[in-house]
Amino acid sequence: MPAAIVTGSSRGIGRAIAERFARDGYDVAVNYVESAQQARAVADAIDEETDADAVAVRADVSDADEAADLVDATVEAFGGVDHVVNNAGIDQHVFTEDLSPADFDRVMDTNVNGAFNVTKAALPHLRASADAAAGDPAPTPSVTNVSSILAHTGAAVECHYAASKAGLLGLTKSHADDFAPEIRVNAVAPGHVETDMTADRTEAEKREELAAIPLGTFGQPEQIADAVAYLRDAGFVTGETLNVNGGELMR
Ligand code: NAP
Repeated sequence: MPAAIVTGSSRGIGRAIAERFARDGYDVAVNYVESAQQARAVADAIDEETDADAVAVRADVSDADEAADLVDATVEAFGGVDHVVNNAGIDQHVFTEDLSPADFDRVMDTNVNGAFNVTKAALPHLRASADAAAGDPAPTPSVTNVSSILAHTGAAVECHYAASKAGLLGLTKSHADDFAPEIRVNAVAPGHVETDMTADRTEAEKREELAAIPLGTFGQPEQIADAVAYLRDAGFVTGETLNVNGGELMR
């Protein structure tokens, strides 16, 4: 069975992606940094409810050595890596005036450096997967980076987050060119999705945000997982960003 790494899959969007990959026939490394219990519960549910196997692996993706350990643990468990989803991310609401350089770096380190670290460590294994599948009509190995609508719009109250998500789009296109034709690299850019990351909004903020979404609802993690599964299987798509935002930003 092919194998996938989904970073930050103890909860939220990453969890839905990990579960979707497992249902689609992929063994999955469920990565987390703090939520050990939740990650183990995700992995256990995959083991019990699907034909796929899962391992929960603690690794702070912002640390290159820990990212390499995550890849090694995946290879040890499943024999290789066929797909990577760089989903782990953090945000913080603070205007530039009050934003410390250390907090700026923390967000960039997790959201951009983390994706770079895991992709770089997984690259030899993705190449090996491509070699093994040569001549096979199955989709090529892939990397999908989870960006954000804020990569396009910016965000006054979280400039570092918006910059990190825009940075991921540059990384996506650069890696798509660098790794072609063996490995496809794409991004998904969600709008507002109901997870822990957005749970702190007041009712007034939610009403205001909803009013800006033509489809009239917030997104669900499973809808982002649908987009990631599409990109995984889309054999003629690379360097692309799939916007999934209820029409909030039409490009
Ligand atoms: P979430 O519920 O806050 O979950 C974040 C996940 O990332 C958790 O699994 C967390 O692990 C993991 N994580 C955080 N820092 C990490 C690190 N250094 N190393 C490894 N894992 C780390 O967030 P979400 O809403 O599902 O967001 C997932 C991704 O979608 C993020 O990249 C986010 O920026 C992006 N996104 C979200 C929205 C939205 O509206 N929710 C919109 C656009 C884009 P622990 O549980 O162990 O802390």
